[in-house]
Amino acid sequence: MPSRADAAAPPFALARPEVRALPLYAPDQTACAVDLSDNTNLWGAPPAALRVLRELAGATVARYPSLYGAPLQDAIRGYAALPDAGVVVGCGSDDVLDSAMRAFGAPGDAIAFSAPTFSMIPTFARINGLEPVAIPLTRDYDIDAERLVATGAKLLYLCTPNNPTATAASRAAIEYVVDNAAGIVILDEAYAEFAARTHADLVTRSERLLVTRTFSKAFGLAGLRVGYGVGSRALISLVERARGPYKVNIVAEHAATAVLRDGPGALAWVQSHAREARDIRERLVSALRALGLDPLPSDANFVFVPTARAAMLAERLRASGVLVRLHTKLPTDLPALAAAEGQGLRIGVGPWPMMQACLDGLAAALRAEGR
Ligand SMILES: *Cc1c(COP(=O)(O)O)cnc(C)c1O
Repeated sequence: MPSRADAAAPPFALARPEVRALPLYAPDQTACAVDLSDNTNLWGAPPAALRVLRELAGATVARYPSLYGAPLQDAIRGYAALPDAGVVVGCGSDDVLDSAMRAFGAPGDAIAFSAPTFSMIPTFARINGLEPVAIPLTRDYDIDAERLVATGAKLLYLCTPNNPTATAASRAAIEYVVDNAAGIVILDEAYAEFAARTHADLVTRSERLLVTRTFSKAFGLAGLRVGYGVGSRALISLVERARGPYKVNIVAEHAATAVLRDGPGALAWVQSHAREARDIRERLVSALRALGLDPLPSDANFVFVPTARAAMLAERLRASGVLVRLHTKLPTDLPALAAAEGQGLRIGVGPWPMMQACLDGLAAALRAEGR
């Protein structure tokens, strides 16, 4: 029971220290004609999902969605070709990652991950009272499997293709972690649809592996907030307990299910745009090189350009109507990031005219700087 004095204290003083210490997520959201800053699907949303949004009857939203999204879970099992796996869906894969940390990490436990990686990971770790332990990527942008395992952390988080570097981890390193980890392994495949291969099949090899994916990137449904995790049924049921019921709203549930269920044409939209993104990515990489920039190898729908001039370039791009994600203060263990003083630009891949606008803006910025 708080004393009278405590109850009168401002909310800030009453908050948990972990929460007090956290800033709100506040990326640059300046309105720009061309927004390449968040890796979403720049071609839009799948027609099958848009049809659901138009046709969903008003009466539907007066009721709760399904408890844990069973129809969507079934559709995901089919899509992932893992008929016997457990599936947990969530309000974005962020929700699944957060729930998994809550399910397995007791306050004070460690979560180790390759760095740099998805910026929400240390945030969710701290909110859940976990100790984030960053292990640098290797020089060839692989995860340092032996060092990760050697931390003995209760949870290990891997991300491939990795945000923000866009680089892919090797199968051998992932297998080493899955086979040798002391606790739970989370493998984030938010960009699986753009990668040369996926590793979700490993859930049949380890009961302690959770593979997370999302409808926010290739599936073009970021605004609806749907993500999922696949793993052994034993592991998934524990993540679901931590997640709680009714987390995917009824509109999102129907729209996401339709993309996986409405015949081959619905999914074909996703797959053909993912293919297009991969083709355009290669063209973009060549064009960036022609400008004297040096993007990291990408297996995703974005490219990462390490450069010490990142802030200047982002600023000039913004002035010319193109928004990219500026990264500063990244760890400098990787030689490319050391040379760039821990800075870089993350550029989303979309229809070519958007890429051309970005390239034109970059060329003008580099010219203005007189190099
Ligand atoms: C975008 C992204 C997510 C997905 O987030 P949602 O909550 O599903 O929108 C997860 N992991 C990584 C690495 C991402 O880049």
